[in-house]
Amino acid sequence: MIRYNTRMSAIFDLHSHSTVSDGSLSPADLVTRAASFGVNALALTDHDSTSGIQSAEETAMGLGLMLIPGVEISVTWSKQVVHIVGLNINVACPELQQGLSKLREYRAWRAEEIGRRLDAAGIPGAYEGACEFAKGDLIGRTHFAHFLVKGGYAKDTRKVFKHFLVSGKPGHVSGEWADLSEAVGWITAAGGQAVIAHPARYRMTRTKLRRLFAEFSEAGGVGLEVVSGSHSRDEGFTMARHASDWDFLSSAGSDFHGPEHSWTELGRLDPLPEQCVPIWHDWSVLDPSLSNTA
Ligand code: AMP
Ligand code: MN
Ligand code: MN
Ligand code: MN
Repeated sequence: MIRYNTRMSAIFDLHSHSTVSDGSLSPADLVTRAASFGVNALALTDHDSTSGIQSAEETAMGLGLMLIPGVEISVTWSKQVVHIVGLNINVACPELQQGLSKLREYRAWRAEEIGRRLDAAGIPGAYEGACEFAKGDLIGRTHFAHFLVKGGYAKDTRKVFKHFLVSGKPGHVSGEWADLSEAVGWITAAGGQAVIAHPARYRMTRTKLRRLFAEFSEAGGVGLEVVSGSHSRDEGFTMARHASDWDFLSSAGSDFHGPEHSWTELGRLDPLPEQCVPIWHDWSVLDPSLSNTA
């Protein structure tokens, strides 16, 4: 049982990355930094891998921080990439791990293909260069971005994405990720809660968003990331309304990737709007009165 000072409200940050995927801090360093910023409950949600959880848990235990085992699953839905976060997953679940390992195989192939395409566009050595930046068990576009910035092809990672790695650009490979229902199924099989990550980032029309919510809910999804480091305050309010309309629980996460290239700092999040039911409302180890709800 973790106890908090009852005069303080607990800080939940339920979306973050380590070197296992495309973050720049090791799981242990990430947890240490979260604790130093006053985070009480941190979810490690690396892309398509859970291999940082054990080390994060060990560090968290020593610091009195609650580590929520998580993952951020890449999904292709309606020809678009959508990210589904799983919280409180049992990482030993074979169904989950088989699914994630399939996604990492696809990633490995995609990385080679990105390398071939950049090579054809006059940028040699990108695959090998990106591999040097990948410190964990998977490789992503962020690693290519680091290589391209280092090589002077663009000023920063944002520009690399814009000019090289998105649809219509030389290094773009359209993703073939998990189905929405499949990803939600793996999370549910692992005893976890499935949450739509940063819903405002997809720039979907209201009609399309409604279709996403309906299919997600039908598949067993329970939460919406209302507050995200990559959402504006207004986008958070819009998503809070959707969450109450659809009876989704609300989550909050920084989507922290590292001190130097992050949307926001660990734990530095707006409170959930008042009408939201926090996804942690019934998490047994925490006193619900200690939530960062407004
Ligand atoms: P991947 O899953 O390998 O296709 O890479 C997706 C990741 O790339 C996201 O999780 C972000 O970390 C990063 N990313 C996507 N778009 C951008 C962007 N415009 N600027 C910087 N990073 C981005
Ligand atoms: Mn990322
Ligand atoms: Mn994401
Ligand atoms: Mn993320």
